[in-house]
Amino acid sequence: MTDEQHRVDLLFDASDEYRPEPPPPPEIPAWKDGSVRIGIHTSIAGDICNALELAHGLGANALQIFSASPRMWAVGTSRISEASAARFRARRKELSLGPLVIHTNYLINLASANPVLRTRSVQTFHQELVRALALGADYLVTHPGCSGPDCGSNRAGESVSAIALGLRQAARGLKLGDLQILLENTAGQGSSVGSKFEELRAIMDACRDLPMGVCVDTAHLFASGWDIRTAEGLDKTLMSIDQSIGLDRVAVLHVNDSKTNLSSRVDRHEHIGKGKIGLEAFARILNHPLLARRAFIAETPIDKPGDDRKNVAALWKLIGRKVAAAGNDGMKPRRKKAKASTPSKKGTKRAVGVHASKLKKKS
Ligand SMILES: [Zn+2]
Ligand SMILES: [Zn+2]
Repeated sequence: MTDEQHRVDLLFDASDEYRPEPPPPPEIPAWKDGSVRIGIHTSIAGDICNALELAHGLGANALQIFSASPRMWAVGTSRISEASAARFRARRKELSLGPLVIHTNYLINLASANPVLRTRSVQTFHQELVRALALGADYLVTHPGCSGPDCGSNRAGESVSAIALGLRQAARGLKLGDLQILLENTAGQGSSVGSKFEELRAIMDACRDLPMGVCVDTAHLFASGWDIRTAEGLDKTLMSIDQSIGLDRVAVLHVNDSKTNLSSRVDRHEHIGKGKIGLEAFARILNHPLLARRAFIAETPIDKPGDDRKNVAALWKLIGRKVAAAGNDGMKPRRKKAKASTPSKKGTKRAVGVHASKLKKKS
């Protein structure tokens, strides 16, 4: 070995070689592990984190919430403080709850031709998106809107483009990241848009720059004329959804039984297995191979204490699992009617509580 060679050998040590570290893989949320996701709509009354504790305590591993009062226009800003949002995100991670679905305010009507209502709807939808991003939501579910004279006009044909334009205006300036906007099929009550899958498809097509998908509500399907009670009926329905919008665009199912008959066009939710759709049909829906890896979220009524727990347990049972609820009292039954009270701070809080539980039934 020459001197020169010797020096080179000494100087070169393979372990000193610079190897750039690969960038860390993006963190995959624990809920995206392919496991079955059963959720329920829970109330944020009192503190937004309560919704997480409620869902977890009821034995659910996914949830839906309203991020603000769903039947009132926000007064002033409806932003959630960063401290509350951070606490919410951290607790959700600890409980491995997901997906987190947020349902938008019911007053939003992006199909309205009334300029005041339309502006308010776009602004409120924008705030919905801001809160969904702050909370780290996966999906923001919305009803498309309604057209016709009872909803501030706009002819049916025009409403699809009005809704799409409204969604794009509401999302302007926001980076939606992993958040997806899901259009929910409706029962077809009055002049509501979205009981036909072709309408949902047309809205999505007009919003190609937005991350859009669909949430299928079983009670709304049934009320709008899809007979999902039989195996053949369910297959026919799924085939039609696939042909019109593509089943891959369906991310969430609202699993609600129906108080009303097939084609009633009336939206009244019932406990799983206690309505006109029936338990057997829900067993087929939850176990259907074409619906695997979707989140199933109940928006069932609470008539008696414990109804929410029973509905979550019923859904788990249908997929052959007994999931014990971690044990909290669940949500309070829907109160008969809020007494008209003077608008005090306490009164407002009470009203919000009533809304939150009342709305589980009709969403
Ligand atoms: Zn629904
Ligand atoms: Zn809904």
